[in-house]
Amino acid sequence: RKFVYDFSEGNKDLKDLLGGKGANLAEMTNLGLPVPPGFTITTEACKVYLASGEAPADLRDEVSAHLEALETRMGKTLGQSDDPLLVSVRSGAKFSMPGMMDTVLNIGLSDESVQGLAKQAGDERFAWDSYRRLIQMFGDTVLGIDGELFADALEEAKRAKGAATDVDLCAEDLRVLVEQFKDIVRGETGRDFPQDPREQMDLAVRAVFDSWNGERAKLYRRQERIPHDLGTAVNICSMVFGNLGPDSGTGVAFTRDPASGQQGVYGDYLQNAQGEDVVAGIRNTVPLADLEALDKTSYDQLMQIMETLETHYRDLCDIEFTIERGKLWMLQTRVGKRTAAAAFRIATQLVDQGLIDEAEALQRVTGAQLAQLMFPRFDGNDAATGIQRIGWGIAASPGAAVGKAVFDSYTAIKWSRSGEKVILIRRETNPDDLDGMLAAEGILTSRGGKTSHAAVVARGMGKTCVCGAEELEVDTKRRCLSAPGGVVVEEGDTVSIDGSTGKVYLGEVPVVPSPVVEYFEGRTHAGADDADELVKAVHRMMAYADRMRRLRVRANADNAEDAARARRFGAQGIGLCRTEHMFLGERRELVERLILADAEDERKTALEALLPLQKGDFVELFEAMDGLPVTVRLLDPPLHEFLPDITELSVRVALAESRKDANENDLRLLQAVHRLHEQNPMLGLRGVRLGLVIPGLFTMQVRAIAEAAADRLAAKGDPRAEIMIPLVGTVQELELVREEAEEVIAAVEREHGTELKLSLGTMIELPRAALTAGQIAECADFFSFGTNDLTQTVWGFSRDDVEASFFTAYLEKGIFGVSPFETIDKDGVGALVRDAAAAGRATRPDLKLGVCGEHGGDPESVHFFHEAGLDYVSCSPFRIPVARLEAGRAAA
Ligand code: PEP
Ligand code: MG
Repeated sequence: RKFVYDFSEGNKDLKDLLGGKGANLAEMTNLGLPVPPGFTITTEACKVYLASGEAPADLRDEVSAHLEALETRMGKTLGQSDDPLLVSVRSGAKFSMPGMMDTVLNIGLSDESVQGLAKQAGDERFAWDSYRRLIQMFGDTVLGIDGELFADALEEAKRAKGAATDVDLCAEDLRVLVEQFKDIVRGETGRDFPQDPREQMDLAVRAVFDSWNGERAKLYRRQERIPHDLGTAVNICSMVFGNLGPDSGTGVAFTRDPASGQQGVYGDYLQNAQGEDVVAGIRNTVPLADLEALDKTSYDQLMQIMETLETHYRDLCDIEFTIERGKLWMLQTRVGKRTAAAAFRIATQLVDQGLIDEAEALQRVTGAQLAQLMFPRFDGNDAATGIQRIGWGIAASPGAAVGKAVFDSYTAIKWSRSGEKVILIRRETNPDDLDGMLAAEGILTSRGGKTSHAAVVARGMGKTCVCGAEELEVDTKRRCLSAPGGVVVEEGDTVSIDGSTGKVYLGEVPVVPSPVVEYFEGRTHAGADDADELVKAVHRMMAYADRMRRLRVRANADNAEDAARARRFGAQGIGLCRTEHMFLGERRELVERLILADAEDERKTALEALLPLQKGDFVELFEAMDGLPVTVRLLDPPLHEFLPDITELSVRVALAESRKDANENDLRLLQAVHRLHEQNPMLGLRGVRLGLVIPGLFTMQVRAIAEAAADRLAAKGDPRAEIMIPLVGTVQELELVREEAEEVIAAVEREHGTELKLSLGTMIELPRAALTAGQIAECADFFSFGTNDLTQTVWGFSRDDVEASFFTAYLEKGIFGVSPFETIDKDGVGALVRDAAAAGRATRPDLKLGVCGEHGGDPESVHFFHEAGLDYVSCSPFRIPVARLEAGRAAA
C-alpha cells in the first residue's frame, strides 16, 4: 500500500484518502496553480496508527523518500543550518472538523538554522519571528502546553516595549522572546524544545494522528454523525512566507460574497503576516480590493486564479493565499461555506452561467436553509437601527423576537396572559421552565450550547432562542441582567433577540416579515420588476424541485384557513386533519355530554348535536382543498383531554360539598373523570379503541364526512375525502370499524342519490401494526405512517416528556445527534416503516402510502421516505416549501 502522495499525484475526488485539504491542494497543483510543493500522508496511514498505536512500518521510509524528493526540488534540506527548508504540517480530514489539530508552521527551525534563515532572507527580525511562531504553535498543538502562556509572554513583551502590534518588536525582542518560549516548553514538559528537524516533523505528524481521537473531535463526530473510523490525512508543505516585509502578506478570499452570493472581490488581506495572524485578529486586515494598490501583479494573478477555480469547481470557493516578496502562492482552497440566501442565489447564477444543471442546483441548497429564510428577521443592521447590541450568544433557534425582559417562568406566564410579549431570560433553563418558555416570544440564556435544554426545547417549540451569551450576567434574584460596559437590563425593559445570528439588543428592533414567506403567501411576485433577487432565486429553485420530485407533499391542517395557506404554499392535499381540534372551545361541552351519557337517548342527543357542526367543518375543508385529497382522521386522543382537570374539579366538588350545595352534574362529571383517568393515557383508551367502545362516535364522524362530501358534490365541487382510523394494532379492529363505516356511507349515498368514492385507510403508528402490515393492508385503501406515535412506542419514549427531561443529556453524550422525534430514526423506526410499506404493497400493490408524523417536514427524513417508496409526506403548512424542496433534492 502507498501511504504518501506527492501533491502532483492526487486530485479533488480523493478526499477519502487525502482528506479535503490534501485533495484540493493536489487538484490545484494539477491545474498548474502556484502551490508550494509538498506531499500528503494518507488517512490509511492514520487508520493503521490509530488501530495499532504504531505508524505503518513503511511509513518512515516513504516519508523519507518524498522528503528527499522535495529537498532535491527545493535545493535545500529540511532544517539545513545555512539555508533551511521549512515545512508546515497541517491536518486534513475528509470533513473539516473543529477540535482537531490544525497547523504547525515553520518546522525545521532550530537555534542553528534560525541564523541560516536570517542570512538567506537578509532579515534577522523575520527569522526570529518565524522561530518564535514555531515554538508557540508546536508547544500548543503538539506538546499540549496551554497556549495562554505563550500569548501572555508575547503581550508582556509588547507592553515592555510599548509596542502597539507584534510588528513593532525588533529582532532582539523576538530573540529574547524565543528564549522565554523555550523556558516555557522546558518548564511545562520537562524537555527541551526539539532541535532535530525530522523529530519536529515526526512529532507533529503523530500529533495530527492523535488529534483525531481528541475529546472534542470525538464529540463533534458523534453529533455530526461522522464515522469514527475515517482518520485524518496530514499535509506537509514547503513554507512560503508572508512575514518577509511589506511586499509580503497573507489573505483569505472568496470567489463571490458568501453572505449575499453577489459576484465581486471579497476577502481580507494582511501585510507582512502569516496565516494565523488573520485568524487571531492580531492586527487589522484590509479589504482584499486594497491589494490592487499594494501589489497589482499579484492581485491580477489572484483574480485570474479565482476565476479558474470557480469554473473548475463550478461553485463558490474560498481560498487562503500568501504573497512572498511579490510572488503569489495558493495555500488552500475548498468549496466555501455560505449563508442560506447566498446558497440560493449562487445556485441559480451558476445555472445561468451554464456551469451546472437544475438537478445539480438542487444539491447546492438545503431545506434547512430555506427554513432559515422563512423566519421573520430584524430590519437593518446594528448601525442602521441605532439600537444597542449588548451581547452575542449562540444562535440556537432562529427567528427574531422582541419582548419585555422577565427572569422567571411564573412572571413570563403572568405577563403573557395579560397580553404582554415577554423574553424569558435565564442563566440556563430546566424542565420547570417549560410553561414559561411556551408563554415567551423568545428565550435567552447566558449558559449552555446548541444542545442545552433551552436550545433543544426552543427548537422543538419553534421559539426563537439565543443561548450561551456568556458576557451577560443573569441575576435571577435581583431580576436583572448586566452586560459589559455597565449596561443593566431590569425586569420589564424591552429586549430583542436574534435567533439566527445570536445577537442580543436592549430596546425594540423593528421586525420585518421574511420576503420569502411574503412570496409564498402570494403577497409579492417573483416576476415583478422590483422583485428581490433572493425571491427570484427561491422561485426558480422551487420550480426545479417540483419538476424533479416524485413524492407529493400534503399538509397537516384542521381548518379552512390553514388549508388555504397550505395550498398557497404548494400543498397537494391534506394528509392529516386531526378532528379532535374541532371538539375544543364551546363544543367541549357537547363532548362532555357524550362522555357522561349512560342512556342510549342521552348519547344520541349529544351525537346529533355534534353532527351538523362536524359536517360544517368538513364542508369548509373540502371546499378549501377542492379537487385534492383530504384525509380526515377519526377521533384519536384520550377522552380526559376533553374533561376538566381532575384536581381542579375535585377541589371544586369538595368545596361545594362542604357548603352542602354540590350539584348533580359536577358529581357525575367527577365520577367520569375518575373512571377515565389513566396512568398512561397515550397507551390507553384512544384511537380506534374509542371508536369501538363508544357507540356511535365514529359513525357520527363518518356520516359528517359523507354528508359534507355529498353537499360539495351537489354544489358542483370535487371533494376527495379519505377516512383514516388512528392507532390500529390489529386488522380485526379495522375490519369492525370498516364494516360500520361502509354501512353509513352506503346510507348517505342512498339518501343523496349519489356515489361518494370515499376511501378508508389506517394510520400505522404502533409497532404491531407495522409488523402485521401485510394483514392490515387487506382492509385498508391506504396507510399513513404516524411516526410520532411510532417513535414513541418503538423507543418507549414519552413524546410529551422526554425532550425536556433527558434528551439534553443524550445529545451531549452523543447517543443521538438529533432527537428521533425530529429526524426519523432510520435503523429502528425507519426500518419498520420500510418493511411495513413493502408488506402492505405485497398484499395490495395499489396501496397508497404516506407519512403524517412531524418527520414529514424534516429534510433528512423526507429523503428517507423518498427512498422507502412512499407516495407523499404530510407536514404543517409552514414546512411545505421545505418538504417540496427536499423531495426534489431527494429525486435529483
Ligand atoms: C403520529 O402519531 O405520528 C400522528 C401524526 O398522530 P398524532 O401526532 O396526532 O398522534
Ligand atoms: Mg398518532
